[in-house]
Amino acid sequence: MKIAKDLNFNINEIFFSIQGEGTRAGRACTFVRLQGCLLRCVWCDTPYALERKEVHNLMSGEDIFNEINKYPTKFLMLTGGEPLEQDDIFDFIKIACEKGFEVVIETNGQVLTDKVDKRAVKILDIKCPDSKMEKKNNYKNLELLNPHDELKFVIASRRDFDFAIKLCDENKLYDKVSAVLFSPVFEGPKLQEFSNWVMDSGKPIRMQLQLHKYIWSPQTRGV
Ligand code: SF4
Repeated sequence: MKIAKDLNFNINEIFFSIQGEGTRAGRACTFVRLQGCLLRCVWCDTPYALERKEVHNLMSGEDIFNEINKYPTKFLMLTGGEPLEQDDIFDFIKIACEKGFEVVIETNGQVLTDKVDKRAVKILDIKCPDSKMEKKNNYKNLELLNPHDELKFVIASRRDFDFAIKLCDENKLYDKVSAVLFSPVFEGPKLQEFSNWVMDSGKPIRMQLQLHKYIWSPQTRGV
Protein backbone atom coordinates (compact mmCIF):
# COMPACT_ATOMS: atom_id res chain seq x y z
CA MET A 1 0.00 0.00 0.00
CA LYS A 2 1.27 3.48 -0.89
CA ILE A 3 1.51 6.35 1.57
CA ALA A 4 -0.54 9.54 1.15
CA LYS A 5 2.17 11.66 -0.43
CA ASP A 6 2.68 9.07 -3.19
CA LEU A 7 -0.99 8.98 -4.19
CA ASN A 8 -1.99 11.19 -7.13
CA PHE A 9 -5.39 12.41 -8.18
CA ASN A 10 -7.14 14.65 -10.66
CA ILE A 11 -9.41 16.70 -8.43
CA ASN A 12 -12.28 18.85 -9.65
CA GLU A 13 -13.10 20.59 -6.38
CA ILE A 14 -12.97 20.26 -2.60
CA PHE A 15 -15.57 22.06 -0.53
CA PHE A 16 -17.45 22.09 2.77
CA SER A 17 -21.22 22.06 2.61
CA ILE A 18 -24.43 20.32 3.66
CA GLN A 19 -24.88 16.74 2.53
CA GLY A 20 -27.89 16.81 0.25
CA GLU A 21 -28.57 13.13 -0.32
CA GLY A 22 -28.85 9.73 1.29
CA THR A 23 -29.46 8.87 4.91
CA ARG A 24 -26.90 11.48 5.98
CA ALA A 25 -28.74 14.36 4.28
CA GLY A 26 -28.61 17.55 6.31
CA ARG A 27 -25.23 16.90 7.92
CA ALA A 28 -22.20 19.12 7.44
CA CYS A 29 -19.75 17.32 5.16
CA THR A 30 -16.49 17.78 3.31
CA PHE A 31 -16.77 16.87 -0.37
CA VAL A 32 -13.89 15.76 -2.56
CA ARG A 33 -15.00 15.69 -6.18
CA LEU A 34 -12.69 13.66 -8.40
CA GLN A 35 -12.37 14.52 -12.06
CA GLY A 36 -13.44 12.13 -14.81
CA CYS A 37 -16.27 9.73 -15.58
CA LEU A 38 -16.60 7.25 -18.44
CA LEU A 39 -20.41 7.35 -18.38
CA ARG A 40 -22.64 10.02 -19.93
CA CYS A 41 -26.01 9.96 -18.16
CA VAL A 42 -28.43 12.20 -20.05
CA TRP A 43 -29.43 14.06 -16.87
CA CYS A 44 -25.89 14.34 -15.41
CA ASP A 45 -25.71 17.37 -13.09
CA THR A 46 -21.91 17.54 -12.96
CA PRO A 47 -20.91 17.81 -16.66
CA TYR A 48 -17.91 19.93 -15.62
CA ALA A 49 -16.45 16.87 -13.84
CA LEU A 50 -16.62 14.37 -16.70
CA GLU A 51 -13.46 14.93 -18.74
CA ARG A 52 -10.27 13.77 -17.07
CA LYS A 53 -7.48 16.26 -17.66
CA GLU A 54 -4.37 14.32 -16.71
CA VAL A 55 -2.13 17.28 -16.03
CA HIS A 56 -4.67 19.65 -14.47
CA ASN A 57 -5.69 19.91 -10.84
CA LEU A 58 -3.27 17.22 -9.75
CA MET A 59 -3.18 16.74 -5.99
CA SER A 60 -1.39 14.17 -3.87
CA GLY A 61 -3.19 12.30 -1.13
CA GLU A 62 -1.25 14.44 1.34
CA ASP A 63 -2.46 17.64 -0.36
CA ILE A 64 -6.04 16.42 -0.02
CA PHE A 65 -5.67 15.58 3.67
CA ASN A 66 -4.12 19.02 4.27
CA GLU A 67 -7.17 20.59 2.64
CA ILE A 68 -9.89 18.52 4.28
CA ASN A 69 -8.31 18.88 7.72
CA LYS A 70 -9.20 22.60 7.51
CA TYR A 71 -12.89 21.79 7.91
CA PRO A 72 -14.63 21.02 11.23
CA THR A 73 -15.96 17.57 10.33
CA LYS A 74 -14.67 14.03 9.90
CA PHE A 75 -17.55 13.24 7.52
CA LEU A 76 -15.94 12.88 4.11
CA MET A 77 -17.80 12.34 0.84
CA LEU A 78 -15.90 11.13 -2.22
CA THR A 79 -17.81 11.91 -5.37
CA GLY A 80 -17.27 12.89 -8.99
CA GLY A 81 -17.27 12.27 -11.79
CA GLU A 82 -16.59 8.72 -10.77
CA PRO A 83 -14.17 8.51 -7.81
CA LEU A 84 -13.30 4.84 -8.30
CA GLU A 85 -11.89 5.34 -11.81
CA GLN A 86 -8.65 6.67 -10.31
CA ASP A 87 -6.54 3.73 -9.15
CA ASP A 88 -4.98 5.41 -6.10
CA ILE A 89 -8.38 6.06 -4.54
CA PHE A 90 -8.49 2.62 -2.90
CA ASP A 91 -5.37 3.33 -0.82
CA PHE A 92 -6.65 6.83 -0.07
CA ILE A 93 -9.93 5.40 1.28
CA LYS A 94 -8.02 2.98 3.51
CA ILE A 95 -5.81 5.75 4.90
CA ALA A 96 -8.81 8.04 5.46
CA CYS A 97 -10.58 5.27 7.41
CA GLU A 98 -7.45 4.74 9.49
CA LYS A 99 -7.31 8.47 10.22
CA GLY A 100 -10.84 8.25 11.65
CA PHE A 101 -12.78 9.79 8.78
CA GLU A 102 -16.33 8.60 8.17
CA VAL A 103 -15.86 7.88 4.48
CA VAL A 104 -18.82 7.71 2.12
CA ILE A 105 -18.32 7.07 -1.60
CA GLU A 106 -20.85 7.81 -4.29
CA THR A 107 -20.09 5.43 -7.15
CA ASN A 108 -21.81 4.96 -10.50
CA GLY A 109 -22.05 1.17 -10.49
CA GLN A 110 -19.73 0.62 -13.43
CA VAL A 111 -16.41 0.17 -11.60
CA LEU A 112 -16.04 -3.03 -9.57
CA THR A 113 -16.06 -2.10 -5.88
CA ASP A 114 -14.15 -5.13 -4.55
CA LYS A 115 -11.10 -3.06 -3.52
CA VAL A 116 -13.06 -0.53 -1.44
CA ASP A 117 -12.19 -0.71 2.28
CA LYS A 118 -15.13 -2.32 4.09
CA ARG A 119 -15.18 0.42 6.72
CA ALA A 120 -16.23 2.93 4.05
CA VAL A 121 -19.87 3.30 3.06
CA LYS A 122 -20.72 2.90 -0.61
CA ILE A 123 -23.73 4.60 -2.16
CA LEU A 124 -24.08 2.45 -5.24
CA ASP A 125 -25.86 4.16 -8.09
CA ILE A 126 -27.74 1.78 -10.39
CA LYS A 127 -28.42 3.29 -13.79
CA CYS A 128 -32.05 3.16 -14.97
CA PRO A 129 -33.09 3.00 -18.65
CA ASP A 130 -33.73 6.73 -19.16
CA SER A 131 -30.15 7.56 -18.17
CA LYS A 132 -29.16 5.72 -21.40
CA MET A 133 -26.39 4.11 -19.33
CA GLU A 134 -28.29 1.06 -18.09
CA LYS A 135 -26.03 -1.32 -20.04
CA LYS A 136 -23.02 -0.04 -18.09
CA ASN A 137 -24.28 -1.38 -14.76
CA ASN A 138 -21.84 -3.89 -13.30
CA TYR A 139 -24.23 -6.14 -11.43
CA LYS A 140 -21.36 -7.95 -9.70
CA ASN A 141 -21.36 -4.93 -7.40
CA LEU A 142 -24.67 -6.09 -5.92
CA GLU A 143 -22.81 -9.09 -4.46
CA LEU A 144 -20.24 -6.77 -2.87
CA LEU A 145 -22.73 -4.69 -0.89
CA ASN A 146 -22.28 -4.44 2.88
CA PRO A 147 -25.21 -3.92 5.28
CA HIS A 148 -24.16 -0.30 5.92
CA ASP A 149 -24.13 0.54 2.18
CA GLU A 150 -26.96 2.29 0.33
CA LEU A 151 -28.44 1.80 -3.11
CA LYS A 152 -29.54 4.73 -5.21
CA PHE A 153 -31.72 4.93 -8.29
CA VAL A 154 -32.09 8.25 -10.11
CA ILE A 155 -35.58 8.15 -11.58
CA ALA A 156 -36.59 10.13 -14.65
CA SER A 157 -39.87 8.40 -15.51
CA ARG A 158 -42.38 5.75 -14.52
CA ARG A 159 -40.39 3.34 -16.68
CA ASP A 160 -37.31 3.97 -14.51
CA PHE A 161 -39.38 3.53 -11.34
CA ASP A 162 -40.71 0.17 -12.49
CA PHE A 163 -37.23 -0.97 -13.57
CA ALA A 164 -35.83 -0.14 -10.12
CA ILE A 165 -38.63 -1.90 -8.24
CA LYS A 166 -38.24 -5.02 -10.40
CA LEU A 167 -34.47 -5.14 -9.82
CA CYS A 168 -34.90 -4.72 -6.05
CA ASP A 169 -37.60 -7.38 -5.88
CA GLU A 170 -35.73 -9.94 -7.99
CA ASN A 171 -32.49 -9.51 -6.04
CA LYS A 172 -34.05 -8.97 -2.58
CA LEU A 173 -32.02 -5.79 -2.32
CA TYR A 174 -34.09 -4.22 0.47
CA ASP A 175 -32.54 -6.70 2.94
CA LYS A 176 -28.97 -6.20 1.76
CA VAL A 177 -28.40 -2.51 2.47
CA SER A 178 -29.27 0.15 5.01
CA ALA A 179 -31.40 2.15 2.55
CA VAL A 180 -32.79 1.95 -0.98
CA LEU A 181 -32.98 5.51 -2.26
CA PHE A 182 -35.25 6.61 -5.10
CA SER A 183 -34.23 10.05 -6.27
CA PRO A 184 -36.40 11.84 -8.86
CA VAL A 185 -34.45 13.77 -11.50
CA PHE A 186 -34.66 17.44 -10.50
CA GLU A 187 -36.55 18.44 -13.62
CA GLY A 188 -38.22 15.04 -13.98
CA PRO A 189 -41.42 13.56 -12.51
CA LYS A 190 -43.76 15.84 -10.55
CA LEU A 191 -43.00 15.35 -6.85
CA GLN A 192 -46.59 14.71 -5.77
CA GLU A 193 -46.99 12.11 -8.49
CA PHE A 194 -43.66 10.55 -7.52
CA SER A 195 -44.75 10.44 -3.86
CA ASN A 196 -47.86 8.52 -4.91
CA TRP A 197 -45.73 6.00 -6.80
CA VAL A 198 -43.65 5.42 -3.66
CA MET A 199 -46.70 5.10 -1.39
CA ASP A 200 -48.60 2.85 -3.78
CA SER A 201 -45.60 0.53 -4.27
CA GLY A 202 -45.76 -0.72 -0.67
CA LYS A 203 -41.98 -1.22 -0.82
CA PRO A 204 -39.45 -0.09 1.82
CA ILE A 205 -37.91 2.49 -0.49
CA ARG A 206 -36.92 5.98 0.54
CA MET A 207 -37.81 8.94 -1.67
CA GLN A 208 -35.00 11.45 -1.52
CA LEU A 209 -34.72 14.98 -2.83
CA GLN A 210 -31.40 16.66 -3.52
CA LEU A 211 -31.48 19.04 -0.56
CA HIS A 212 -28.64 21.23 -1.81
CA LYS A 213 -30.63 22.12 -4.93
CA TYR A 214 -33.39 23.56 -2.75
CA ILE A 215 -31.02 25.43 -0.40
CA TRP A 216 -28.99 26.88 -3.27
CA SER A 217 -29.96 27.14 -6.93
CA PRO A 218 -29.63 23.87 -8.94
CA GLN A 219 -26.71 25.30 -10.95
CA THR A 220 -24.63 26.46 -7.98
CA ARG A 221 -21.27 24.71 -7.83
CA GLY A 222 -19.23 23.93 -4.71
CA VAL A 223 -22.27 23.27 -2.51
S1 SF4 B 1 -22.20 8.52 -13.59
FE1 SF4 B 1 -22.51 10.41 -12.44
S2 SF4 B 1 -20.86 11.78 -13.10
FE2 SF4 B 1 -20.94 10.10 -14.58
S3 SF4 B 1 -22.27 10.87 -16.22
FE3 SF4 B 1 -23.57 9.73 -14.80
S4 SF4 B 1 -24.36 11.27 -13.36
FE4 SF4 B 1 -22.61 12.20 -14.43
